Amino acid sequence: MKNIAIYPGSFDPITYGHLDIIKRAIKIFDKVIVAVAHNSEKDPLFNVSERVELLKKVTRGIKGVEIDDFQGLVVDYVKSKKSKVVIRGLRMISDFEFEFQMALTNRKLSKDVETIFMMPSEAYSYLSSKLIKEAASLGANLKGFVPAFVEKAIKAKL
Ligand code: ADP
Repeated sequence: MKNIAIYPGSFDPITYGHLDIIKRAIKIFDKVIVAVAHNSEKDPLFNVSERVELLKKVTRGIKGVEIDDFQGLVVDYVKSKKSKVVIRGLRMISDFEFEFQMALTNRKLSKDVETIFMMPSEAYSYLSSKLIKEAASLGANLKGFVPAFVEKAIKAKL
């Protein structure tokens, strides 16, 4: 049986930090489904299908990675994909409290689903979609944070 992991999130938009986690996860799972959550962002820059398209473009060529979107509870989605694993990225201590809370809530909702935390390369440990959007709105060059076509897509929105 295939070992499948789900990497859920907003991905508004994907950054090199997310990509780093995806590449680490696919080394230990047969399949990684990167799943864009509906309604997780109050005021997103990209709608869900745009985020899915950007993710597909960035991960093209990485064998075993699939892109999807989902509504409702993460644990229900995980089970619907015959998986037992949620992957989340941990950057700084500041991520810890929220991630810890969410992992334990998901465990309460389903005992069969485990959350696995992965740390990105330190080069990306400060990167967030939110900060990148803010920096872009102030005219920053996003090279090194996101691929060129993602930067172009962000700037086209601003
Ligand atoms: P959220 O799901 O909290 O809205 P994101 O969509 O931005 O957040 O990120 C999805 C997951 O990827 C979260 O676990 C988040 O901590 C992680 N993540 C985001 N940016 C990075 C990064 N630069 N390095 C490692 N993990 C990251």
